[in-house]
Amino acid sequence: MSESIGTTCVQGGYRPSDGEPRQLPIYQSTTWKYDTSEHMGRLFDLEEAGYFYTRLQNPTNDAVAAKICALEGGSAAMLTSSGQAANFFALFNIMSAGDHVVASSAIYGGTFNLIKHTMGRMGIQSTFVSPHATREELDAAFQENTKCVFGETVANPALDVLDIETFAAAAHAHGVPLIVDNTFPTPVKCRPFEWGADIVTHSTTKYMDGHGAAVGGAIVDSGHFDWLAPGVAERFPGLTTPDVSYHGVVYAEKFGLGGAFITKCTAQLMRDFGSIQSPQNAFLLNMGLESLHLRMDRHCANGLEIATWLAAHPKVSWVRHPSLPGDANYQLACKYLPQGSCGVVSFGVAGGRSAAEEFMKHLRVAAIETHVADARSCILHPANATHRQMNDQELADCGITPDLVRLSCGIEDASDLIADLDQALSFV
Ligand SMILES: *Cc1c(COP(=O)(O)O)cnc(C)c1O
Repeated sequence: MSESIGTTCVQGGYRPSDGEPRQLPIYQSTTWKYDTSEHMGRLFDLEEAGYFYTRLQNPTNDAVAAKICALEGGSAAMLTSSGQAANFFALFNIMSAGDHVVASSAIYGGTFNLIKHTMGRMGIQSTFVSPHATREELDAAFQENTKCVFGETVANPALDVLDIETFAAAAHAHGVPLIVDNTFPTPVKCRPFEWGADIVTHSTTKYMDGHGAAVGGAIVDSGHFDWLAPGVAERFPGLTTPDVSYHGVVYAEKFGLGGAFITKCTAQLMRDFGSIQSPQNAFLLNMGLESLHLRMDRHCANGLEIATWLAAHPKVSWVRHPSLPGDANYQLACKYLPQGSCGVVSFGVAGGRSAAEEFMKHLRVAAIETHVADARSCILHPANATHRQMNDQELADCGITPDLVRLSCGIEDASDLIADLDQALSFV
């Protein structure tokens, strides 16, 4: 029976049988005990599925990963300690020193640093392209050693919408997968696998948790990318040749196209880097997921209503929101995000840096935070906070104007948010 997304949000991943706890139990245990060494040996050899150590797998985490997997329509998934860990693992699972990634330039700052600088120090090269690059521009970015393409469905904080179909077609023509960070829309508003993406990542810290309670991440595999195809297999020896660090297992053969990527990522990267999500945090994440479908509708409705209201306000010089008619990303948002994009809106306060500063002082409902995608509205003036060491020219170079304010609309009543913004703008 195929299930609708709201039901999966509420019930996916954990279905108790007769006499079992209704709520997902927290397996607060590092270790599992076995009657014989032979049994444990079979688990270590990946001959049998089972738990032995929480760094590798934990039933609470697995249930929540299974829910996210079902929401995205994937074949396998895993949780990580943060969104940063999810993106690093997803990339590094199929890349090594000497390899190259084509990435959208409109991505989260932390991910840009990870790819450009930290993975750069590991000997991995990168080329950045526009999220709206044409097929020709994309083709020109590939090299002999390119191993994947990376982008964000809706970029944080630029709010650009990735042209997923064009990026997927280019990646596949060059025999590599497309990895998409789907943090902002969540699978409630966009399922990138339906547009050709092969692997999806999340910072579950944002809307999925949704209550500012637990940092976390997730990786989901579609199971669609054929690692063993002629011309492709040689490019991914980590999946298609024996793993000497794991008894010579060939992941793509032993676990099939649906299981290879996540099994390798767990057995190798989680084993060696150990960025696990704690079972307690996975439990909190699951509580957030239970209302994700309801919250996303409200976040998106509030985002659009407030963007529309701001666009008509005389003290607002410009507004960006992908679902706002006339926005530079509106056509792409209509295609990929017809039911709404996210609750984040950026806008310019007329009068520039000092006017924006004054406006921020008077807000009572939206709180000043670096966070986004929380049930509570939050707001940030980068020129006066995260980017305050920069002058106007340096700000312009990274696409941030001194008047820019980023508002993450929560799930409060839109009328209260508008009244708050209105009174604060009256001081400008
Ligand atoms: C926040 C964020 C990240 C990083 O996630 P953390 O959970 O903070 O490590 C990655 N990608 C996007 C789109 C984000 O918004």
